[in-house]
Formats: sequence, C-alpha cells, structure tokens
Amino acid sequence: MNKPVELRLETVPLWINGKPVAPATPRMGDVFNPATGQVARRVPFAGADLIDAAVKAATAALPAWRDTPPLRRARIMQKFLALMQAHQSELARLASQEHGKTLPDAMGSVQRGIEVIEFACGIAQLLKGEFSENVGSQVDTHSVRQPVGVCAGITPFNFPVMVPLWMFPVAIACGNTFVLKPSEKVPSASIRMAGLFREAGLPDGVFNVVHGDKEAVDAILAHPGIHAVSFVGSTPVAKYIYETCARNGKRVQALGGAKNHAVVLPDADLEFTADALIGAAYGSAGERCMAISAVVAVGAAADPLVALLKKKAQAIKIGPGDASGVDMGPLITQQHRDKVAGYVDAGEKDGATLVLDGRGLKVKGCDAGFFLGTSLFDRVTPEMKIYRDEIFGPVLIVLRVNTLEEAIALVNRNPYANGTAIFTESGGAARRFENEIQVGMVGVNVPIPVPVAFYSFGGWKNSLFGDLHVHGVEGVKFYTRTKVITKRWPHQDTPSAPGFNMPTLG
Ligand code: NAD
Repeated sequence: MNKPVELRLETVPLWINGKPVAPATPRMGDVFNPATGQVARRVPFAGADLIDAAVKAATAALPAWRDTPPLRRARIMQKFLALMQAHQSELARLASQEHGKTLPDAMGSVQRGIEVIEFACGIAQLLKGEFSENVGSQVDTHSVRQPVGVCAGITPFNFPVMVPLWMFPVAIACGNTFVLKPSEKVPSASIRMAGLFREAGLPDGVFNVVHGDKEAVDAILAHPGIHAVSFVGSTPVAKYIYETCARNGKRVQALGGAKNHAVVLPDADLEFTADALIGAAYGSAGERCMAISAVVAVGAAADPLVALLKKKAQAIKIGPGDASGVDMGPLITQQHRDKVAGYVDAGEKDGATLVLDGRGLKVKGCDAGFFLGTSLFDRVTPEMKIYRDEIFGPVLIVLRVNTLEEAIALVNRNPYANGTAIFTESGGAARRFENEIQVGMVGVNVPIPVPVAFYSFGGWKNSLFGDLHVHGVEGVKFYTRTKVITKRWPHQDTPSAPGFNMPTLG
C-alpha cells in the first residue's frame, strides 16, 4: 500500500520589526483556495504576546520616524509606489487566489489601493498648518498636525490589498508607526506589501503585520501602546471595536457593513442601467461593501428592468478567478456560501418572487469549490430578511415603489448608509436625490461610487462608527493631532503687568 502523501503547506509568516517571523503558535488557521475548496496555506494566529512584540517594535521605531522630515518619508513612499506598481500583477494574483475574485477585478482593486500611496506621496503639502499674524497685539498663532503614535488597522477579507492600503500609507506618511492585522482568510498580500515597503527603504518596525482572529483583535484593542485603531468589516464587529476603543481611550474609525440601494427612475436608459447594476451586484460575487444589493424600481421602470436583469444575470460566466473569460468567482468559504444560499431559501419562504435561482450551480472540475450561481428576487418588501440583512453574496433583490419620494424615504429608513446610486436622465431628480439621501457615498448613473484616493471613503449610520472617513484629507486628520501654538516675543516696549482676567489679546 502506498503511504499517504504528506502535504507540506506553506505557512504565512507575521512581519515584525522588518522581517518575517513564523512562530509556533497554539492556534493556526486554514487559508483556502475558494475555487478548489482546498487548504492552500496555513496562518499562525497571534495571541497577546505576539501583538505585544509588534507594538514594541512599532513603539521603538516611532521617535525616529516621527522626526523624519515629511519629504524624506514621501521619498520612501515614492519608492514603495514604484515597487507596488511593478508588482501589481503578483499582488492581484495573491488576492485572487485567496479571495476567489477574478484576476482583472483583483487588478482593479490593487490599482485603487496603489492610488492611496500616490496620495500619501503628497504628505508634505497635506501636513501644512495654519498661521495667523497678530491675533493679538504682537501675538501670532499657528497650528501644526503631529502624528498620533502607534496606529493599528484591522481589515476584512474582501479586499486583501486595497483596504489595508486605505490605512497604512496615510498613517505612515503622517509620521506614525503601524500594526496591521489583515483578515486571517487572506493574509498573504499584506506580508508581500510589508516586504516591498522594506525594500523601498522603510525603517524596521515602522510597519508590522500580525495575523489572527478575535483573540488578536482583542489584544490590539486592550494594548496601552496603541493610540488609534482603523477598522473595516461587518457592522456588529465595527460597533464592538468602536465601543471598546472608546472605553480604552483610543482614537477610532470603524467602517461597517452595507445594504446599497440603486434607485431606478422610469426615464433612465434601462439597457445602460441594467449593465451597470449587473456588474455592481454580481462582480466579486457580491462580496463588496459597495455592491448594489437592492434595486428600487420606480413605477414603469420595474417590469422591463427585471426582464433585463434576468437576461444579463443568466449570461454571467462563473468559474475560478484565474480562468480567462470568467465574470464571477466563488465565495470566500463553504460556510459563507451556505449562509448566502440560506438567504435564497429565506426569500422564497418570505414570499418574494424568485426570478433566478443560483443554488443549483455546478462548476465543471471544481466540485469542492465554494461556488454559488446568481440569484435575483423581485417584489421584495422591507420586512423580508433578504432586505433587512446584508447578504454579501450574488443575490440581487428588487423592490417596487411608485415615486421618487417613496424611493428616497425607503433608502433613508434603512439602518445602513454606505453607498447608493440613482439612475435617471433628469438632473432635477438627481439633484434632489443627492441632497436628501442620508448616505455617505452617492452615485448618479454610477453604480459603485467609491471615491478616488484624494477624496475620503466612508458611510453614515450603521456603516461607520466614528467621525472621520478613510484616506483623503479625512484620513490625514484621523492620523494626526492638531496642536495650536500662540506666541509672543516681548521686547523693551511690550507692556508688562500681571493679568488676572481672561486674556482677550486685543
Ligand atoms: P468581519 O467583521 O467578520 O471581519 C473583519 C475583521 O475583524 C477581520 O480582520 C477579522 O479577523 C476580525 N474579526 C472578526 N470577528 C471578530 C470579532 N468577533 N471580534 C473582533 N474581531 C473580529 O468582516 P469580513 O467578513 O472579513 O468582511 C466582510 C464585511 O466587511 C462585510 O460586512 C462588508 O460590508 C464589510 N466591509 C465594509 C467596508 C466599508 O468600507 N464599509 C469595506 C469592506 C468590507
């Protein structure tokens, strides 16, 4: 009898103080190839001791990095930018392998992340403060923005490269040091980025990467050496992160889940609209926080739109993310695939019209992959579970209303408020929508209005806990503290007497 073949799986290291470390940890996680269902790599889960080692490295690196002139920091950032551009395909392949998304989609998301590095290269300009001469007699005032200290980032599985890049280039350009805990489901790309950043000349300890689940996150939230936490993930965890950081006196921004509505008016170009909605709903298998998951069809738009959506959703090619001609890959895990399929069961049970059912899909040669076909529901109502919950999979639902007012009211009643879009040819209707909608990111005939890096990204309500969005000017504000200096240089003629009243400086 042949001996069973021993599979030697690669272990994804942590990155502490400028080098990879692969410690023996009591707990390890499996990293899957979602297209085959096989375990592709293993990842060590950090406990409090390894988190402390990463924070110690970041703390030791802080004084010199904080005092490095912003222009010099920017020069390292420029080299990092060039290396990231040179390795864009490799990073996209890593993201696609561990997440399952198609390679062209992964390339696009890596590009959007790289654009944050481009933004961070302008840090010297972004850190400029204010100056006012003579705010009182012989008194001048100026403000400076100084780094916060050691910052941490905790990121979700769905953008293994882009979401970490929303955080650490801006934080590090501002003079902070950083500890990143990427999703344990997609750990490899962050380690590759840490290697490239070191190659660009980043001093050891400025950027560290740890892996793990709740235990690692809790150690970050409890660590007194961490001063600010950026989180992106699901709403219950975002709320937990926000509350725990607030209790522990840390600055925090916690971006949560979403239920993004697209409102379609009868005057919209329906062919164009359906194409836009299909890409936004089923691209990346619906595992995007800016995916359109609910269409609000107004009046006569509904019947023709649903027919077009059905036709186009049926035509989507589903397969492994690295196969050519594929539009949509598998979901992240078997468990998540089954959860999303369970929502299709729930929609049927609640009485929505199932126009297209993706549950029976089989992908040739990928029997154990985490695939689910495209599903489409019509005549969904707001009480149904498929409307109330974020599904995060290839399930698009259509709700029908009679007027734009009803559509706006429906969107505004939803507790999530990440992104939304309107499809119309009426400037007046679009303007009213832009003005009245209570959502952080709005598209007009643009289904996924993800802001470019020099604007800020973030939702409202249950899609963001905290005040400041990520990247753009708000990112710089999050990663810096303002100091205001008021000064006078007395000379012989300066009157001098003890002052017991509130100084008015006039
Ligand atoms: P998740 O909340 O399960 O995990 C996010 C991070 O938190 C991971 O690093 C994970 O290890 C950690 N984590 C998980 N459970 C935890 C717990 N109980 N306590 C402490 N930490 C915990 O999210 P996910 O499944 O990785 O990603 C999908 C979610 O992220 C979706 O809800 C999606 O909408 C959201 N998301 C939001 C945005 C945004 O910008 N608002 C962007 C991308 C993804």
